Amino acid sequence: MAWDFSTEPEFQEQLDWVEQFCRTEVEPLDLAFPGAAYSRNPKAKALADPLRQQVKDRGLWGLFLDRELGGPGFGQLKLALLNEILGRYRSAPVIFGTAAPDTGNMEMLAAYGTDEQKRRWLDPLLNQEIFSAYSMTEPQGGSDPTLFKTRAVRDGDEWVITGEKWFTSAGARADIIFVMCVNGMYVVPRTTPGVEIMEYPSTHNHIRYNDVRVPLDHLLGPEDGARVLAQRRLGGGRIHHAMRTVAQVKLAFDIMCERALSRQSHGKVIAEHQMVQEAIADSYAELNMLRLLVLWTAWTIDNSSTKQARTQIATCKYTCAKVLREVSYRALHIMGSLGTTSLTPLQAMFAGSPVMAIADGVDEVHKATVARNVLSGYEPHEGPWPTEYLPAKRERARKKYADLLASDPDLAAWSDRGALAFTR
Ligand SMILES: Cc1cc2nc3c(=O)[nH]c(=O)nc-3n(C[C@H](O)[C@H](O)[C@H](O)COP(=O)(O)OP(=O)(O)OC[C@H]3O[C@@H](n4cnc5c(N)ncnc54)[C@H](O)[C@@H]3O)c2cc1C
Repeated sequence: MAWDFSTEPEFQEQLDWVEQFCRTEVEPLDLAFPGAAYSRNPKAKALADPLRQQVKDRGLWGLFLDRELGGPGFGQLKLALLNEILGRYRSAPVIFGTAAPDTGNMEMLAAYGTDEQKRRWLDPLLNQEIFSAYSMTEPQGGSDPTLFKTRAVRDGDEWVITGEKWFTSAGARADIIFVMCVNGMYVVPRTTPGVEIMEYPSTHNHIRYNDVRVPLDHLLGPEDGARVLAQRRLGGGRIHHAMRTVAQVKLAFDIMCERALSRQSHGKVIAEHQMVQEAIADSYAELNMLRLLVLWTAWTIDNSSTKQARTQIATCKYTCAKVLREVSYRALHIMGSLGTTSLTPLQAMFAGSPVMAIADGVDEVHKATVARNVLSGYEPHEGPWPTEYLPAKRERARKKYADLLASDPDLAAWSDRGALAFTR
């Protein structure tokens, strides 16, 4: 039977271990020393590195990469099940060597890098000896790549990069930046002269590339390949975000259900008020619809390719933003005044939902892609009536039975009575 929703017992054991490990090790690190897992401070590393080692010992490091590139080679479906746990904890992705933006950059390197580029950057990225950023969006436009201007010009044995980028996540702390130029994707060490990091925004950086010179071998992939590389990078990143969003939605849902059973109002526990029940029932349905959509997409990638799953990935992209917004809002609302504070994860989750609808491409662009791809499987109908115009279909059906209708008055009368359905 091909349609199977069960998890094989050996992998379930891994999932159980991950759940327990995140609860007992990763979350306390997150709460006691926020940001420690991302820090290069020796004391922070002394806390986080042993956790990374436990993940490696368990064979779970770099979950997104194939076996030949040093990962466990689980494929996307198993990765989705793991990310349903990791996405609940802020530091879990970095403790498991699967944090954005490095993952997408590593995927590009793995797919398009030369052996030398892989040796120089992929291995250190995988081992978290270095960190990276991805510089694509420009101040004058993000959704439309035809507006981008940053360009590399060849000068002897160097590329000279000139342009301005906006919202490069973690650009200020990255060792290398993948810079998307109109003519190619380039790897730029952050400390290269001419890389100017502006004062704000502080997390997602505004960067000027002022005649930045890099050697010729810092071009990744072909000179005209920037859009293809970007699609490869963003496609993978989007589905990973969607997987982690399932975890966030489940967390909001768990918080909502616990609260609904704990709080009294107007003589009963609030879970007994029908409008609260409606919020829970709607959230349960949306959580599971999102989860199945993400798992189906992951399955499609495993069984064909990321390219084949493009419509599904775009659907995940805008659906996860919407479901996160709806469910986190209901949970926040049911939490009452406490929900509006930063004393539970709900406020940050709700505030994060518009980010999900913008980062990695705005919802509108993905919806347009989905509509275009879906419509390519349809044809317009001929004449004024749609294919499902029932009187015309009935006429064709009656022609099929013409001999019977002509020879059997009872059946002819029966069929005539059916015509009454179309008089309204
Ligand atoms: C948290 C976060 C992290 C990010 N990290 C990175 C990063 O690391 N590197 C990087 O390069 N970029 C990054 N970005 C930038 C992101 O890729 C862009 O914000 C995104 O592509 C949208 O571009 P924009 O912000 O310029 O919005 P715009 O393109 O100006 O769009 C604004 C609005 O215009 C409307 N719109 C635009 N196009 C269409 C259309 N075709 N049809 C209908 N309506 C449309 C939509 O309402 C849209 O929300 C990040 C963004 C966020 C929020």
